[in-house]
Amino acid sequence: MTITQPDLSVFETVESEVRSYCRGWPTVFDRAQASHMYDEDGHAYLDFFAGAGTLNYGHNNPVLKRALLDYLERDGVVHGLDMSTSAKRAFLETFKSTILEPRDLPYKVMFPGPTGTNAVEAALKLARKVKGRESIVSFTNAFHGMSLGSLAVTGNAFKRAGAGIPLVHGTPMPFDDYLDGKVDDFLWFERLLEDQGSGLNKPAAVIVESVQGEGGINVARTEWLRALSDLCTRHDMLLILDDIQMGCGRTGAFFSFEEAGIKPDIVTLSKSIGGYGLPLALTLLKPELDVWEPGEHNGTFRGNNPAFVTATAALETYWTDGQMEKQTISRGEQVEAALKAIADEHPGEIADFRGRGLVWGLEFEEKARADRVAKRAFEHGLLIETSGPQSEVIKLLPALTIAPEELDEGLRILARSVREAA
Ligand code: PLP
Repeated sequence: MTITQPDLSVFETVESEVRSYCRGWPTVFDRAQASHMYDEDGHAYLDFFAGAGTLNYGHNNPVLKRALLDYLERDGVVHGLDMSTSAKRAFLETFKSTILEPRDLPYKVMFPGPTGTNAVEAALKLARKVKGRESIVSFTNAFHGMSLGSLAVTGNAFKRAGAGIPLVHGTPMPFDDYLDGKVDDFLWFERLLEDQGSGLNKPAAVIVESVQGEGGINVARTEWLRALSDLCTRHDMLLILDDIQMGCGRTGAFFSFEEAGIKPDIVTLSKSIGGYGLPLALTLLKPELDVWEPGEHNGTFRGNNPAFVTATAALETYWTDGQMEKQTISRGEQVEAALKAIADEHPGEIADFRGRGLVWGLEFEEKARADRVAKRAFEHGLLIETSGPQSEVIKLLPALTIAPEELDEGLRILARSVREAA
């Protein structure tokens, strides 16, 4: 694809240096439909990024768009803090009947501010209030957001340094396979919990992702998650499952922890729960944990009504039969086979490929290669990002609604880019 130099001057002179994705994809995007984005010059880009997991149902999904346009057309309430609205009622009823009841998860639903980190902050605050303790345990390479509480339980040194103040009351423990299977799961953690001389303050909660998205697509085994859940029960710690990136069907089932058969005490959701890319976040809590005083945690943009409308339409469209889950698993097998072929083609150059459902990572022995691959992929019309502590992993995160032919096309571009970025 020939790329003419777009005029980026206003972004480069007016927008802050903090901007990031636009640096890797130096064009000006204008339109987007399903699994494609189009720039101002009309170039099409196949999207293997999906808004970092926000667009599980694709860009401008027509069913969700219709529901949104109808709602706006009839002057449905757009902003109402946490007032009761018909859009919120429809969402709560549908979420309960489509997602919670069939899974026997009687969670109460809290609406914090609309971003992922808002949901995490609410979860941490609630856990501390319930248990009357300050300490939270997180895991190596975890990512839970950029506000101070979330950063304190995030691993990445660069992001943590941005806090500018000490990040306290968080203790990291090894994530699954961090020690290459050489040490029994939770040996260190449990020893610290049991030893009065260990120096570990008794934690209020443990926060975990079942697949670490930003941390490099590290997939926790189901038995590891079950053992963690047991450990939390035995030591009276709450289990917070951060499903902001891996929930809403990314790994197959609606919640990424379903396969493990666990029932976390608190679950955070954001990104794709709004369905259409509109901001919305939920903190789900077991009913007995609902010790909030009215207004004790609030915010102007809780309960985003247009997002309730698209979220409800997404649940009704994709989550009333088991089709979405089956489709995601089968598309994931297509990705796995393609990544295996890439690994076979480049013996000794691929450190690992791993994933679940439609989230996959391709890790290179030469860490800098992943960035070169992503750059080549962009030049060939594929949007794909890197993750991991040194950006050494190519992260595949297509929309769950992607067509098999589009998936094939993107995987072919990826294979070509890996070759060219040798
Ligand atoms: N938690 C997880 C697991 C995430 O992947 C992210 C974002 O990538 C967040 C929290 C933070 O979400 P947000 O960027 O909407 O604050």
